[in-house]
Amino acid sequence: MGFKTDIEIAREASKKPIQQIGAGLGIPEDSLIPFGHDKAKVAAEFIAGVQDRPNGKLILVTAINPTPAGEGKTTTTVGLGDGLNAIGKNAAICIREASLGPCFGMKGGAAGGGYAQVVPMEDMNLHFTGDFHAITSAHNLLSAMIDNHIYWGNKLEIDERRVVWRRVMDMNDRALRDIVTSLGGVSNGFPRQTGFDITVASEVMAILCLSNDLDDLQRRLGDIIVAYTRDRAPIYCRDIKADGAMTVLLQQAMQPNLVQTLENNPAFVHGGPFANIAHGCNSVVATTTALKLADYVVTEAGFGADLGAEKFMNIKCRKAGLAPDCVVLVATVRAMKMNGGVAKVDLGAENVDAVKAGCANLGRHIGNLKSFGVPVVVAINHFTGDTEAEVQAVLDYVRTQGSEAHVCRHWAEGSAGITGLATRVAQIADSGVSQFSPLYPDDMRLFQKIETIAKRIYRADEVLADKKIRDQLRAWEEAGFGNLPVCMAKTQYSFSTDPNLRGAPTGHSLPVREVRLSAGAGFIVVICGEIMTMPGLPSVPSAEAIMLNDAGQIDGLF
Ligand code: ADP
Ligand code: MG
Repeated sequence: MGFKTDIEIAREASKKPIQQIGAGLGIPEDSLIPFGHDKAKVAAEFIAGVQDRPNGKLILVTAINPTPAGEGKTTTTVGLGDGLNAIGKNAAICIREASLGPCFGMKGGAAGGGYAQVVPMEDMNLHFTGDFHAITSAHNLLSAMIDNHIYWGNKLEIDERRVVWRRVMDMNDRALRDIVTSLGGVSNGFPRQTGFDITVASEVMAILCLSNDLDDLQRRLGDIIVAYTRDRAPIYCRDIKADGAMTVLLQQAMQPNLVQTLENNPAFVHGGPFANIAHGCNSVVATTTALKLADYVVTEAGFGADLGAEKFMNIKCRKAGLAPDCVVLVATVRAMKMNGGVAKVDLGAENVDAVKAGCANLGRHIGNLKSFGVPVVVAINHFTGDTEAEVQAVLDYVRTQGSEAHVCRHWAEGSAGITGLATRVAQIADSGVSQFSPLYPDDMRLFQKIETIAKRIYRADEVLADKKIRDQLRAWEEAGFGNLPVCMAKTQYSFSTDPNLRGAPTGHSLPVREVRLSAGAGFIVVICGEIMTMPGLPSVPSAEAIMLNDAGQIDGLF
């Protein structure tokens, strides 16, 4: 069948000048900092000037435990934004920026798909407005200043074996995971083992995404712990005196980027932290700005709802004082089948029983989300191969869970395919039924916070943690970090830490392998299982098929 690829559809978009998109939100032309014709940053002064306005309604898009290809959260976020505009509402969307790593690796781009995309998708998936470059530079400036401090006498008495600040690059490059620096002689410093993470895993990325303004940004940068002394006293970024220059490098990157959807509706694309060792949502500045300018703001949280939505609620909303008015849970027949035990290669064949079995996963997410006090609607992101019987099985199941599901065809049809969901979401958001509250209070003990998430969201029986880990948590409590939220890092494919344990498992335990303090971002990272902060490329990376065609256009991005 002759489906057009994402990039072919994106290329045919009839884009409006970005000034016109800004005007639709009431942003004057001189408050937009244009990057070419179809991208702009929104000036910080303008943002500061709209803070007294009331907020629009906030709609979170999340998903069930996904298949490796993703479930279409971004696609649905974009589609729902267009759908709301199509039924006459003033809506904007907020999503993350793309990392070059997955773009050239396996997962593809991050601009949505089909007829629900943001454009220019090529720019958005590549260098965009340079934010990732700024974050990479700010991060590596600090790295260079740490080694430089040691080189020139190490007045702070940094233990070279305990430098925890690594380097970053926005690329999947496993060769750089563990390296030795400063080889080559006296003038190159003291050799030590370190490594690279991907830029989206940088604490600077998480900080940029959680900061309210430049002052907050600089304070948080200063709070980053970069190393320890021999007697384990922390050395902060502030001690290295890098926070000021880092803020300078990030000044422009702090301003949210405005682009448009294929249907010329406003889209804020800003920041892109990992969803495992960080919280996985676009910047607070983008979301809070959009809420001042639009009546409805649709935003996305990474991974499945057990990770993405949980962190959106317990970290981002808690810290930024936000509260979702409605949550849209994306489900696909394909993911339901996988959760029902079907292998990836067999997803093409109709299998109603597997869909029904996989619905247990959906049901648990519905229940979990409701426990935050928020109303939940299920969006069935329709794939052309889905059969009527399979879709009906999901619709029927959701009704038994006291919720409602809508079949959405935005990927194939754009806004026309999602007006049903848009109408209901607007009604629910307007109704004011949401009574959001985070899952745990700030003053709960750190280990108990982990237990609360493990038992109430993952439905694990217990948390397994060595004495070393419990002692570390206690030490952080004594050092004044006890009121931070926890940022869970585990597989996105299961409620448990075993990616093969799909559906709605019970009787499992949550083993905590490591805990890390992100003092600048303001959370404790709880690592459960193997988590990669520098991914590798697959045997056949997408990069092999990305090239310029005879017309000078980019082919192969998706
Ligand atoms: P997520 O945000 O959940 O990771 P995306 O929205 O980025 O997922 O979608 C992942 C991929 O799946 C994209 O390439 C997109 O084009 C494709 N996709 C999404 N929805 C559909 C659909 N209904 N039919 C076919 N492909 C889809
Ligand atoms: Mg996405």
